[in-house]
Amino acid sequence: MIVFFEVKKKEQKYISKFLKGKFFSENIHDVPISKFKNAEAISVFVWDKIDKELLDKLPKLKFIATRSTGYDHIDLDECKKRGIKVSNVPNYGQNTVAEHAFALMLSLSRKIPRTIERTKEGNFSLQGLTGFDLKGKVLGVIGTGNIGEHVCRIANGFEMKILAYDICKNKNVKKYGVKYVSLDKLFSLSDIITLHAPLNEHTKFMINSSSIKKMKKGVMIINTSRGELIDTTALVKGLNSNKICCAGLDVLENECYIKEEAQLLSKNIKECDLQVAVENNILLHRDDVLITPHNAFNSKEALMRITDTTIKNLKGFLKKRYINRVI
Ligand code: NAD
Repeated sequence: MIVFFEVKKKEQKYISKFLKGKFFSENIHDVPISKFKNAEAISVFVWDKIDKELLDKLPKLKFIATRSTGYDHIDLDECKKRGIKVSNVPNYGQNTVAEHAFALMLSLSRKIPRTIERTKEGNFSLQGLTGFDLKGKVLGVIGTGNIGEHVCRIANGFEMKILAYDICKNKNVKKYGVKYVSLDKLFSLSDIITLHAPLNEHTKFMINSSSIKKMKKGVMIINTSRGELIDTTALVKGLNSNKICCAGLDVLENECYIKEEAQLLSKNIKECDLQVAVENNILLHRDDVLITPHNAFNSKEALMRITDTTIKNLKGFLKKRYINRVI
């Protein structure tokens, strides 16, 4: 028996076309154990903590398919001891986030929000709406991993000149004409800088007052990675002095801690994160800053990829041909 937890009605209907299972919209800890104690496989989400105590109550369990990239909600050591295998969804939204970065870039370069606001008010004047082309502009990509690679692919389509900085070079981006340079060189030569590195002790506040000093006057900054890559105070100063022309931010400093994006679709974390976004008033009310609510991953296709990969992971279990195994 396969048992799914935290699945919405729509997801249940879709999954049922491919797999027989028992579905619960609740967290695994809110469902009486008697209803799933014979489960051989379970599919869970990041809120479903799978610990020793729970595993002790599931003697027949052989497989866990988590509908997430992260798996730190599952006690892997305890699973290993019991011979329980675990699969995850390693990636689902790289092109999705890259497309969002360009949505922000084009919205700023062509002043789309202001243009639409004005036409809705019946003002069809072109006054003050002159934008600029992406073609020929220098794009500085910081972090050329999964998302950064798609950003390079799209930028190449726009005929941008692409500079990149990464601690680990990605040979797949060579075909897009990407030139790896030092961070300082990227700062000084880029017309647009887009951030795709993870948040860690080395990347925290990598955009700060001293790095902004090194940038071209009128640089555009795009951040779809994590808010803490940018020191907000330095960003505001840079915008005030026109050193930075504009910024497109899908993420803000001081967002509530999230492990991964799909969590944002869950009710409790969403309220918390949107609240913080709204509180980020200084940036929110500026015409030269566009903010989206950590929404870059949120496309129909990306969400479908999570469900489809989970279905494949479970089919793999049924055929004893495991895929996307973590252990
Ligand atoms: P990834 O791990 O594939 O790529 C990250 C890249 O950053 C790697 O190439 C790595 O070498 C590089 N890197 C690490 N440290 C660096 C440093 N100090 N300087 C420069 N580069 C460095 O990750 P990804 O899938 O491309 O995702 C990138 C980030 O995007 C994630 O860490 C996450 O924070 C963010 N993200 C945001 C959304 C969203 O909806 N806004 C969705 C998914 C991911």
